Order: sequence, then C-alpha cells, then structure tokens
Amino acid sequence: MANIAIIGAGPAGIEAASILAKRHHVTLFERAETTLTNIHDKALLFPDFTSAEDLATQLDNKLNNPNLELRLNTEIKSLVREDNNWRLTDSAGNQYDFPYVLLATGYHVFDAHKKEELGYGIYKGVITSLELEKMIKGNQILNVNGDTPQQITFLQCVGSRDEKSGNHYCSKVCCVTAVKQAIEVKKMLPNTDVYVFYMDLRMWGQGFEEMYRTAQEEYGVNFVRGRISEAAATYDNRVQIKAEDTLMGVPLNLSTDLLVLMVGMCASDGTRQLGESAGVSGEYGFAKSKSEHLADNLTERDGLFVAGACKRPMSVNDTIQDARAAAVTILNTIQE
Ligand SMILES: Cc1cc2nc3c(=O)[nH]c(=O)nc-3n(C[C@H](O)[C@H](O)[C@H](O)COP(=O)(O)OP(=O)(O)OC[C@H]3O[C@@H](n4cnc5c(N)ncnc54)[C@H](O)[C@@H]3O)c2cc1C
Ligand code: SF4
Repeated sequence: MANIAIIGAGPAGIEAASILAKRHHVTLFERAETTLTNIHDKALLFPDFTSAEDLATQLDNKLNNPNLELRLNTEIKSLVREDNNWRLTDSAGNQYDFPYVLLATGYHVFDAHKKEELGYGIYKGVITSLELEKMIKGNQILNVNGDTPQQITFLQCVGSRDEKSGNHYCSKVCCVTAVKQAIEVKKMLPNTDVYVFYMDLRMWGQGFEEMYRTAQEEYGVNFVRGRISEAAATYDNRVQIKAEDTLMGVPLNLSTDLLVLMVGMCASDGTRQLGESAGVSGEYGFAKSKSEHLADNLTERDGLFVAGACKRPMSVNDTIQDARAAAVTILNTIQE
C-alpha cells in the first residue's frame, strides 16, 4: 500500500480520495473546519437544480473508509521535493512526507471590491452572486430596506474577460449560474422584474441552452446585451445604473433594488501558494498540468498530480470526472 496525500477536500479531493483509498492509504488535508466549503455556500446546482446539501452529503459519505484519514483545519502552506518524497508543511509548522501528492486546492471567487466603479462594498444594494445564493438558500430575497425587490439586475463577467482586473479568461460557470439564479428569483418572486446584462451568453453544457430559453419564455427574464459602466446609490437605497444596450446601440439609465455581480472563478490562495512552491504554477496562478490533451492530471514534477478547479474554472460534473481521471493516473503511476 502506498501513502498518498490529497490537499483540498472539495469535490475533486473527495472523489479522488474515495477511489484511491480502496487500495492505498490516503490522507486528505483540508484547511477549513468542514469539507466542501464551495458546495455548502450554494442552494441548488446547475444544470438540474440538484440540492447542493444533498450532493455534499453524498460526497461526504464516500469518505467512510478505514484507509482514509481526513485532517480538517489543516492548511498546507508549502509543498517541496525532498529526496524522493514531497514534504508538506502546514500552518502550525508540522511536516509530512509523501511519495505521491494530489493538488486539489480549487478556487475562490473574484474579489468584487476591485471593481470600484460598480460600488461593491460601498452601496448595500450591490451584492455578489454568492450573496444572492445565500438569500435563495434562506428562502428570503429582500432589498436593502427589507422589502420585496421590484427589480433585480445581474451583471455578467465581473472579474473575468476583463482587461482592468487582468483576468482575460472566461470563468465558464457564471453565465449558466446567472440563468439558474434568475429562474430561482422568478420562482420565489414572480412579480419582480429580472434583467441580465451580458457580453455574450456561453451556454456550453448539455441542457444549458434549454434553461436559457425557459428563463426567457416561461419566466420572462429580460436579457440585455450590454455593459454596465457605473453604479451609484439613489436617495431610497436603490442602485442607479449607467449602461449601454450594445445590440440596439442606446445608452440606458435605470434603477434597480439589487445589482448582482456575477463574480468569476480565480485560483485559490492555496492553489497559488502551493503551485509556486512546487514549481507547477501556470497562467493566472492556476496549477499547470503536463498536457491538457494527454496528461491533464500529471505535472512536470514526479509524484505530483492535479485535479479540479485548481487547474482552471470548471463545473462540479467536470471536476468529478477529472478527479476520477486523476485517481486512475495515480494508480497507474504507483503500479509502474
Ligand atoms: C458562484 C458560483 C456558482 C457555482 N455554481 C455551480 C453549480 O450550480 N453547478 C456546478 O456544477 N458548479 C458550480 N460552480 C463550480 C463549483 O463550485 C466547482 O466546480 C467545484 O467547487 C470545484 O471543486 P474543486 O474540488 O476542484 O475545488 P473547491 O470546491 O474549491 O475545493 C477546494 C478545497 O481545497 C481547500 N484548500 C484550498 N487550499 C488549501 C490548502 N492550502 N490546504 C488545505 N486545503 C486547502 C479549500 O478549502 C476547498 O475545500 C459554481 C462556482 C461559482 C463561483
Ligand atoms: S461564463 Fe459568462 S459571465 Fe462568466 S466569464 Fe464567461 S462569458 Fe462571462
């Protein structure tokens, strides 16, 4: 039996751990006090409106294996090659040596404070998609004054495809998340007007295009191709928006109760730090695999593997498939 370390107990880390622990001893390190932090902060998941809590329970159940040791509250701060092992050092200074390590440290969302012109952190009516998700989960969507909102406006591509923030890449999950959230808002508040401002809608997955049509045809969500250049507060705590409808070529000035910023996926601090210390850091701080086509779970360093959103933005489904591929890659490497 080999000893394998997995860093990060998100969907990628858990899925890979559950497979590898059938044959080997696995230690799963997680910096937070629970597993699956980036699942617990969501209500329902695209594409099929699965309950995030149900998915989390199913994934957690996969951890029941005597060969698998879960270490919560253990943040790995460095990952360096020592002789034939990888040396992991946690924030308390403890060191652990493993011949095989899977990096599954995932993402965090773009910090919306960096887009000052959109007023996040300044005007209370400007919130992020995660904050709206929390309201949906709590089954109560209210405006700043504690009333039912008359209008909710979504803005796509916040911190993605954006020169100013330096993130030129597409975050992949936020278009479909906006459509999903718009439908959820309309289900809860049928009389609330919902607008989605987009650059272009990237409905890449199975069922996504249908969800977009449903949002328009069944729920009356309004999609506007355009950019919001500026947000400000009104006297009654609403948000005044300056925008342009780029299809019609007309400037727009409108007020909304909530402006929801669809924040993109960035490399988590753990991904950045450990990618750098292990020498596998790629573009935008995401971890770099050996080859996206043929060796997407291997890295240029012996014994170090990568899986999930630490490599690039991806959905849960893609993450779990990728984690399975990583587990097979590790099993093959151990056998060689
Ligand atoms: C707003 C938003 C909505 C989304 N909605 C959906 C949806 O509806 N459906 C869908 O399919 N996908 C959705 N996603 C994407 C989904 O969240 C990801 O696909 C998934 O969480 C990726 O899993 P992961 O295990 O790769 O990374 P993560 O979930 O990020 O897990 C990584 C884990 O590593 C831990 N970690 C990080 N650094 C360290 C360290 N140094 N030491 C120890 N532990 C560490 C973290 O605490 C975390 O638990 C959404 C994403 C966003 C931004
Ligand atoms: S998925 Fe959509 S909202 Fe997100 S960055 Fe890509 S185009 Fe923009």
